[in-house]
Amino acid sequence: MVYMLLQNKEATLNLIELFASVQGETSLTGLPTAFVRLAACNLRCTWCDTTYSFGRGEPHAIDAIIAQVDDFGCRHVCITGGEPLLQANVISLMKQLCDKKYVVSLETGGSLSTAEVDPRVRVILDVKCPDSGMSDKNHWPNLGLLRAHDEVKFVVAGINDYNYAKQISGDYDLLKRETPILLSPVFGTLDPKELVGWILRDKLPARLNLQIHKFIWSPDTKGV
Ligand code: SF4
Repeated sequence: MVYMLLQNKEATLNLIELFASVQGETSLTGLPTAFVRLAACNLRCTWCDTTYSFGRGEPHAIDAIIAQVDDFGCRHVCITGGEPLLQANVISLMKQLCDKKYVVSLETGGSLSTAEVDPRVRVILDVKCPDSGMSDKNHWPNLGLLRAHDEVKFVVAGINDYNYAKQISGDYDLLKRETPILLSPVFGTLDPKELVGWILRDKLPARLNLQIHKFIWSPDTKGV
């Protein structure tokens, strides 16, 4: 399976869905947010909960996307996927949203470089753990580009993933930086209480990251 950056000269982006909700995770949890879910992903995490984003989606003009975001009236905008960085025009979308004073976050699977992302964007960088089946796809230079307002997320399916997250956090000095470390239990696979126990046992300065939308709505509900 070969994926390439989807360069589009007509300033469009292939979209899966565009909706307003409350942010379900990260340090911005609970805040009203406009979500721009872009199409396609180059990874296949074993526990992926957004497989419906794997298709090509529908092309939408960037101007139309921004107009819809304006209509929602949320201060926060989350660019997510799929893997948003597969589409080169996302760089321009994020810049334009930042210029309009939105607080923009980017959720990326961590396999593609974040070097071109506007520095005003809060990058939520996944580091894939072994049980995802995708840990060999991590683009490690991204960890060197992290700023204080960015966040690193490890989705943890069990103790092996937890130990991996701890090891990577140590190897890349994440524990000494201001960048928050999010530990997110795979929903329905790892009991959050178990993960909390490990974090407290190890005195790890990490944040438990629950996906609150799965508690507010049913776990499979789209567009929330
Ligand atoms: S990177 Fe995200 S969208 Fe892609 S397979 Fe993994 S969890 Fe699913």
